[in-house]
Amino acid sequence: MASETEPASLQKLRSLCKRRGLIFQGSEIYQGFANQWDWGPLGVEICRNVREAWWNKFVTSRNDMVGLDSSIITSPRVWEASGHLDSFTDPLVECDRCHGRFPGDKLIEQETGEDLAGHPLDEIDEHIRKNEIACPNCGGELGEARRFHLMFKTHVGPVEDEGSVAYLRPETAQGIFYNFALVQNSMRMRVPFGIAQIGKAFRNEITTGNWIFRTREFEQMEIEFFVEPGTEMEWFDHWQEETWDYFRTLGLSEDKMRWREHSEDELSHYSSRTADLEYYFPWERWGELQGTASRTDYDLRQHQETSGQSLEYQDPMTHEKYLPYVVEPSFGVNRTVLALLCGAYREEEVRGETRVVLALKPDVAPCKVAVFPLSRKDNLTAISNPLFDDLRRRWPAMLDETGSIGKRYRRHDEIGTPYCITVDFDSIDDRKATVRHRDTMEQDRIALDRIPAYLEEKLG
Ligand code: ATP
Repeated sequence: MASETEPASLQKLRSLCKRRGLIFQGSEIYQGFANQWDWGPLGVEICRNVREAWWNKFVTSRNDMVGLDSSIITSPRVWEASGHLDSFTDPLVECDRCHGRFPGDKLIEQETGEDLAGHPLDEIDEHIRKNEIACPNCGGELGEARRFHLMFKTHVGPVEDEGSVAYLRPETAQGIFYNFALVQNSMRMRVPFGIAQIGKAFRNEITTGNWIFRTREFEQMEIEFFVEPGTEMEWFDHWQEETWDYFRTLGLSEDKMRWREHSEDELSHYSSRTADLEYYFPWERWGELQGTASRTDYDLRQHQETSGQSLEYQDPMTHEKYLPYVVEPSFGVNRTVLALLCGAYREEEVRGETRVVLALKPDVAPCKVAVFPLSRKDNLTAISNPLFDDLRRRWPAMLDETGSIGKRYRRHDEIGTPYCITVDFDSIDDRKATVRHRDTMEQDRIALDRIPAYLEEKLG
């Protein structure tokens, strides 16, 4: 359900995403569930493109990075070591009148712009009183803040007792830390090097919202980059540059991106520096897409102490043993796709009609090329079918045979298909077809046997 305060452009984008098979409400036929969203057939393709661009840039193209896919459910001792069991909480405040529950720090941020994430409960209470912040639902008085645990709890095996408790991972990072020595030894990696992982993470957020921006189940793309102590700030700069470049190359407008440094008192206890890459969303707020954190040797040290196993690295030249420091760039798939969709949505007036275009970069677009035979007559499908078969082997492609050509263009503009090819009755004699460009709407008549090379030049 769209919220009343949502900008009109976002409401239109949401309805487009449902109509065109990008994003569906989770459990929709049961009126939805817990602000979950499902990727439809074309949304899946956009996610794949975002992940693939990330993996290509950060893993395949580098000598100092390897991949990993660790379990979602792990030994609970992982979360004891990481500190999540004790401190992965949000300050929860409850309305005395309507009993609505809210994250206290986020309420304060909305009202005053101050970020109190990680601050003690009495400071949250003090800020709520001082700024006279009331319940956003009913205006009632808010009670005292208390700690609310964000990890999803489950039981493993047939017995549901304290001994079988386990948690769904709230981040992919810890799977990298506890596998550090196994990866380093098996792959003979030398510091500095990184381990990358893409996968689902789960957080029982007190409130969700802004569509797919904050959900309880989401996907992360994380790197833990292990460096020699003392070199972490150089690497921090490197990862900030790489992050900016990744989002710019995907097609986000640089005017809508910024880095936000965490202030001293906002920093987690183990972090010596953190900066968030933020995007300016249509609900007129900056929101985090990626966080870069210098985490010192905190995580490796914690796992070493809790497991009793050495996670030290031995420098092959100096034979010195030490725990590497870590720089962590952590990205969200869902928020990246959301930012791309918001940035790509356009409405244009064309000959008295509104044209809706999803101006995604071709690399990100779910379908690269669509083939339209003007009619389903045999003499046209004898041309369009083999053309389509040839193109789909090279790029994600669609064959669209129904409706007027104008309607077919509109459908493909809305999903961001960069090139549409119409096979018409002239094609039978001249062995050419019309290639239409999404952004300029210009049309080129191209020989059928030259179309793959023509597109290769444009799409790569
Ligand atoms: P926020 O301050 O918005 O709650 P965070 O600082 O807790 O985010 P991190 O722990 O740094 O987020 O997680 C890294 C990335 O994972 C974020 O930059 C974001 O892209 C993504 N992410 C985190 N929480 C969520 C969520 N609830 N829904 C969707 N994506 C999320």
